[in-house]
Amino acid sequence: MAQRLFFALPVARTSQLALLKLQSQLAQAGIHGRMIPATNFHLTLAFLGSVTASQKDALLARLADLTVPDLHLELDTLHYWAKPGIVALGARRTPIALGQLATQLQQDAYQHGLHPTRHAFRPHITLFRGASALLPDLAHVPEQPIVMTSHSVELMVSVNGPAGVEYHCLKRWQR
Ligand code: ATP
Ligand code: MG
Repeated sequence: MAQRLFFALPVARTSQLALLKLQSQLAQAGIHGRMIPATNFHLTLAFLGSVTASQKDALLARLADLTVPDLHLELDTLHYWAKPGIVALGARRTPIALGQLATQLQQDAYQHGLHPTRHAFRPHITLFRGASALLPDLAHVPEQPIVMTSHSVELMVSVNGPAGVEYHCLKRWQR
């Protein structure tokens, strides 16, 4: 049976706490969406879509030696995408190593018949879904960037659990 897969950077506990704090600040400021639980915080590198077992085996064989660079990111700007009502914390500047890694994984997917990514890579961590438009006085949030450091890349499977979407790590590449 096919699985819904994507590559992501996990979010360390310390960054999770900072993101939770920002989330509640935004909720108090009037954002009424579904709050993403901290266990679901992640930064997507490449979305692969529906992947069969044999496609997954081939993918894991191809990427067995994937090199994970030192990833250091300053999350310093809010994004709002109206259609899905996503409020996300993003980065004004994409570190070169992060952009290269995302591009490598997206190209690998495209070249092997998996989901083709059509948009430029915009690193972000989703904090709310189904939110109404951002209020104008949130333009300067966050006051301080949330610094994220990652030493691993994860292949995640997305499943619909009883309490909503859940992500499980299928494989982790570490620096
Ligand atoms: P749900 O769709 O159930 O509301 P979700 O979007 O978090 O929750 P998935 O749709 O399985 O769960 O997506 C997993 C990850 O891949 C998320 O980070 C999501 O933003 C990203 N993603 C999903 N679809 C696409 C797509 N078509 N293009 C790029 N990224 C995508
Ligand atoms: Mg989705």
